[in-house]
Amino acid sequence: MSEQVIPYKIYLSEDELPKSWYNVRADMPIKPAPLLNPKTFEPMTAEELGEVFCEELVAQELDNDNREIPIPQEILDFYKMYRPSPVVRAYCLEKKLETPAKIYYKFEGNNTSGSHKLNSAIAQAYYAKKQGLRGVTTETGAGQWGTALSMACAYLDLECNVYMVKCSYEQKPFRREVMRTYGANVTPSPSATTEIGRKILEEHPGTSGSLGCAISEAVEVATKTDGYRYVLGSVLNQVLLHQSIIGLEAKAALDKYNVVPDIIIGCAGGGSNLGGLISPFMGQMLRGEQDYKFIAVEPASCPSLTRGKYAYDYCDTGMVTPLAKMCTLGSGFIPSANHAGGLRYHGMNSVLSELYHEGLMEARSVEQTSVFEAAEMFARVEGILPAPESSHAIRVAIDEALKCKETGEEKTILFGLTGTGYFDLYAYEKFNNGEMQDYIPTDEELKPGLDSLDAIPVNKK
Ligand SMILES: *Cc1c(COP(=O)(O)O)cnc(C)c1O
Repeated sequence: MSEQVIPYKIYLSEDELPKSWYNVRADMPIKPAPLLNPKTFEPMTAEELGEVFCEELVAQELDNDNREIPIPQEILDFYKMYRPSPVVRAYCLEKKLETPAKIYYKFEGNNTSGSHKLNSAIAQAYYAKKQGLRGVTTETGAGQWGTALSMACAYLDLECNVYMVKCSYEQKPFRREVMRTYGANVTPSPSATTEIGRKILEEHPGTSGSLGCAISEAVEVATKTDGYRYVLGSVLNQVLLHQSIIGLEAKAALDKYNVVPDIIIGCAGGGSNLGGLISPFMGQMLRGEQDYKFIAVEPASCPSLTRGKYAYDYCDTGMVTPLAKMCTLGSGFIPSANHAGGLRYHGMNSVLSELYHEGLMEARSVEQTSVFEAAEMFARVEGILPAPESSHAIRVAIDEALKCKETGEEKTILFGLTGTGYFDLYAYEKFNNGEMQDYIPTDEELKPGLDSLDAIPVNKK
């Protein structure tokens, strides 16, 4: 039989689309550590979590056992507006690199929010609506999550209050306007509208903000406002669960052509897109059915996996959220304002942190100029203008393909292309002007954050 020709884009038909999310925790022999109450340091109960999060999302957060979680019909209907997303064979990039490697990417940027975040936004908004809530609060860094959530809330007629990291609020006014167009209320963070915001402003006047600060503010408002809950765009296990749609579709598409990737690569901010992409493949590996090499790619300026500690930490700067056991730089860590490439969160999802800790996944950190070089090469040959976050994965996919060129190995590489970069042109401008600088924190700079972990009682031996 002659080798089957792989189309440039592989799509799934409607009846081939996943009907359930896949919960990789069910196949993990060692489960991720539970969230802890920040006052008692005991595992958070569903009741306690229910004060901050929607009920059904709490159930998903705590579910370590059910492998398949059916996707409600209303969410499937919404998914149909922009899914399935294609798996693309990067023929043009392969040719440019003169590599024998076969490169595929799963492209999640084909919706107005411009990223994978809509996959979880619609799920979280749906459960909030189902519970009869009036609205939700959240934080947004670069703005993709806030945009996705405002789209989902507009669709379901829910109020949406977004705390946007101040430097993004100022650098990305158009993102803000997209959110407002979808009806969201957008506040730059830290702000004077919350207790924690006022405290942070007093301690760090002139701060450009961080995701950790914005989370504290959004949680405070959610818990103090009737009919409101807080929702989060990454980091939590429920978000990783919703993002498993990426991996399930990718695997179904590759299976149609009997393609088995050797290496699966994704960028890692809070970990949800990478976790979602690798989930079904990781499940196979955990069940002993297939071997894969997984690579998480993070910015050198915010290296939670490669230079952080695996310990319990707060998910926010104000230390009001539950503690998660994760690879973290410390909740007080704020990346350099020079860093343009997103992925600014201090910690990493617990599932991914545990898998990394067990050696089932690798991690690399990359510098932003090399990330933008990869982005530019990719844009010029594949046509898509990639988000800087996504371009971390492109960087390592190119590096792996170039290794194949040296060794002559015909490896198959799959990477997650999480979104488009139309709102990141300020960063592209810096790169094009040759003004972009790399920033790698020194050990001394990381030390206070890492030391703060030792002060948390549950981390003491
Ligand atoms: C938010 C975002 C990321 C980071 O995703 P995580 O799931 O938090 O790791 C990556 N790429 C794009 C385009 C994003 O918007």
